[in-house]
Amino acid sequence: MSSTNLTSLHHYLYNGTQSCTDRVTRFLQNIESKKHLNAFLSVFNTEALDRARLIDKKIEQGTAGKLAGLVVGIKDVLAYENHPLQASSKILNGFTSKFTATAVQRLLTEDAIIIGRQNCDEFAMGSSNENSAFGAVLNDIDNTRVSGGSSGGSAVAVMADMCDVSLGSDTGGSVRQPAAFCGIYGLKPTYSRISRHGLIAYGSSFDCIGIFSKSLETMARVLEVIAGADEFDSTVSRQAVPHFEEALHPSSKKFSVAYLKDALESTAVQPEIKEALQVKIDRLKAAGHTVEAVDFALSEYILPTYYILATAEASSNLSRYDGVRFGHRSPNTTDLQSMYKKTRAEGFGSEVQRRILLGTFVLSASYYDAYYTQAQKVRRLIREQTKRILTQYDFILSPTTPTTAFKIGEHTNNPVEMYLADLFSVHANVAGVPAISVPCGKDNQGLPIGLQITANDFDEAGLFQFSKVIQTLA
Ligand code: GLN
Repeated sequence: MSSTNLTSLHHYLYNGTQSCTDRVTRFLQNIESKKHLNAFLSVFNTEALDRARLIDKKIEQGTAGKLAGLVVGIKDVLAYENHPLQASSKILNGFTSKFTATAVQRLLTEDAIIIGRQNCDEFAMGSSNENSAFGAVLNDIDNTRVSGGSSGGSAVAVMADMCDVSLGSDTGGSVRQPAAFCGIYGLKPTYSRISRHGLIAYGSSFDCIGIFSKSLETMARVLEVIAGADEFDSTVSRQAVPHFEEALHPSSKKFSVAYLKDALESTAVQPEIKEALQVKIDRLKAAGHTVEAVDFALSEYILPTYYILATAEASSNLSRYDGVRFGHRSPNTTDLQSMYKKTRAEGFGSEVQRRILLGTFVLSASYYDAYYTQAQKVRRLIREQTKRILTQYDFILSPTTPTTAFKIGEHTNNPVEMYLADLFSVHANVAGVPAISVPCGKDNQGLPIGLQITANDFDEAGLFQFSKVIQTLA
């Protein structure tokens, strides 16, 4: 079963040739037969089937919502009332959400079906899903390779037909990078486009909810439903939410596109990925679009800026997990101090501990100005430089990742090597602009390649439109 787009899905559901109940049953069978991939931490079997029956009735009665029958999986950082939530961390063992995230609630209101909770890197920190307390997620194309991260379970679930769509989170590439490794679409909208209410915080000034899908049209419709103002998140934008699907109508518009010169020259980028980018550039030019190379002078500062600021924010956000109010509490403690220490040492995995230590260091009185303040200034410069390019060009085109899916264990002993997997993806989060990863062929070993399109603030419609252009160039 491959994920169809929503229009054809509704065609079959409304003419009675398919039912939500049958589809959920088949997805549940796939989840069961592909258990070894480790994509789901909880599967809501009975509940999803009950909801499917209810929505089948609504369809019959003509009262179903815009996303009727769409089967969605959610990353284990999104709250869903009375369901387990633990950011793939031991520290939240036994925790159950007390409320539902706005994005998830909006899906439910439009009659989507939530099928389960998906594995990810602990607290969304990672690029391979190997940092989960529940083990790595395997790539369905080659089980010895990573899914990408941090939303690895969400990407693999869509890739392997365990659901139509997944919601993930993207703080530095965690939707686009696994989407590229799994050969599907992955969207990170503009910062503040979607409410973060009910999203477990990692780096609050970077965190975005993102969408995985095999269909651009479905993705556009999901974004339209979940985006927009929310009384529970004062940082969410009040900008009008357009009918994104309209952007997918055929158009003969010619675009001006910048691509990063570095991406084609850097030795860090796998040759087949450079080739895939070059082919698209040539075809875009042949089709009458303007495509020009640009230098991004600050490119070497993007990763350090991200890893200073994201860890600083994480060290503050994660201070709430102390064993006092919820989650794991170490049983062998004698006083309050030792309770905090033991709980956090037992509850957090080594990557999360490393990030908390790094973040605490860059925020400490003696180093605050040298690291945190400086990184804030550089972030401003990166945003300004990015915006300058995006006033001159409609889009920036780059690889999503420097390599295709690497082997499990290949980078686990070298955190810096792992951070380099985020070379291209963190840029959009540092600048706050939207970006999408579009599947673009395979390398010599049959592993998917993703290309990334970055657009100006709030131009997700442009991303959809140009993704379609890229797709039809093939
Ligand atoms: N790989 C990046 C990190 O570990 C991005 C994670 C994310 O986007 N959540 O910080």
